[in-house]
Amino acid sequence: MKINTPVREPKAMVRIATTDPLRKNQYPRINWWSGALRPFESVLSFCARFQALNGISFEQYEVLSDLEKNTSLSSDYDSNKIAVLLNQDQDLVRSVSVDLIDFFYCHEFRYIQDSRRLVRTFSYCKQCSQHGYHSALHSLPWISKCPFHLTPLSDGSFSTGGGNLDERSVNGMCELLRANCSTWPRPGQVDTEISRCINSSKHLPSFLRWSKKVYSASEKLSATKIWVSEEFDGRKELSYRHAIGRLKLLCGVPSLIEPLFEDLGEDWDLTIKNFQADVRNELHSLKDKPHFDYIFTYYKFISGYLKSPPPFKKKLRLAQDILNNRHGKCRCEWSLQNAGWVSHWVRIDPRMGVHVYDRCPYGHAIDTLEREWGHPDMLRLTPRAKQKLWDTFIHQSRDMNAYGLVEYSQNAKVAPDGYLRGTYNNIYSSCEWNTLSPITELLNTVAEFEIDVALIKMMKWLDGIEQGHEPENYDLPAGCIRLCDTDDGLSLIKWSLK
Ligand SMILES: [Zn+2]
Ligand SMILES: [Zn+2]
Repeated sequence: MKINTPVREPKAMVRIATTDPLRKNQYPRINWWSGALRPFESVLSFCARFQALNGISFEQYEVLSDLEKNTSLSSDYDSNKIAVLLNQDQDLVRSVSVDLIDFFYCHEFRYIQDSRRLVRTFSYCKQCSQHGYHSALHSLPWISKCPFHLTPLSDGSFSTGGGNLDERSVNGMCELLRANCSTWPRPGQVDTEISRCINSSKHLPSFLRWSKKVYSASEKLSATKIWVSEEFDGRKELSYRHAIGRLKLLCGVPSLIEPLFEDLGEDWDLTIKNFQADVRNELHSLKDKPHFDYIFTYYKFISGYLKSPPPFKKKLRLAQDILNNRHGKCRCEWSLQNAGWVSHWVRIDPRMGVHVYDRCPYGHAIDTLEREWGHPDMLRLTPRAKQKLWDTFIHQSRDMNAYGLVEYSQNAKVAPDGYLRGTYNNIYSSCEWNTLSPITELLNTVAEFEIDVALIKMMKWLDGIEQGHEPENYDLPAGCIRLCDTDDGLSLIKWSLK
């Protein structure tokens, strides 16, 4: 922190201390006092007051960049460093960071907001601004009301002056607070009043308790994870609506704080199926400890060729029938057209129909089900793609045989190196799945769960297209099925959109 300008009123000052011996004594005395930082104050509000109190411009101090880029206020070391620097209570400094309540640390259930630390535009509470205060809570993506006053939030704006976005947003905050609070940035009655509002809020403690529970629940689920589905669209990050919807299913939102939310997201159903310890032991004792996904993908593929198909195949055909019945005579306005390696959606005249080599959304959904859970090699594949399936199958069959999950049939031709030999006509039927293995039922259930989730997602996607959305970039949830270790076995969890 370098400050070159003379100190101005008020005179309530602290000497800046630093834990870095090389930078010791570089800092002049500045206008700041213990208590000038208010609980849950935003970085913007803090910077605005800091620069106004000291009569300095944005480039003349480095507090913001320290807070934004180099420190994590949820870490003990960094929050302590800043607390010492500003002569503030460490818990208070930590409250400036909303990491713990913006769901960023909710592990795999987290929601990632763009530019989290310093938002480029800000929401604010008019009543708070009259107290010369702006809270980090006002900038949370999900919040629509001030947790202290319950007033709907307003949109702030950047300063129209020059500078980069950080500078313009801090200057915008200065202009707002100066316009709404006659004593700002000086200390006064307003500091006492805002402290009273914060301390008497019933909503904030309730929210903090809930977010703590959500955090623990998501931490536990993430820590015990064995596998999470990527489903057919391979997405990993959750949108806000899907993230908040899932978090509220982990821990119900107390009715007191419901009004604070802009949007409580999607409603989900949760299904949990538990498996006994023998299933877990079998899975964990496989030679080479293969990843669950490796076994599961193979299982789905080989199931298309088994003499007695597993039960999930019935579910697949049912799902395809549902799509076919809903489709009826094709009147679709979109066609997935292939152009070399890529394919893209093109709007078409429904009277002309879809070209025989292309697919309408329903045809695409039915094909997707076939590719993931049916007979992938029965779809239109290039010779190269067919060869790849073939090579992968031979390679993986050898592993599955070694794990005891697959037996080669009597007429299978096996080379001395353990790899299958054969022709397209007989190679896929050279293997029999070991249905006696305790993990067979688990694999079938996971496949059934996947088909359930896929069908719901496809129906939502088709609803969206019929309502006028484009087929690309439609917001569908990811990772809806999760396999976890438990104290007595395994737990298979399925989130289904209602
Ligand atoms: Zn307020
Ligand atoms: Zn169609």
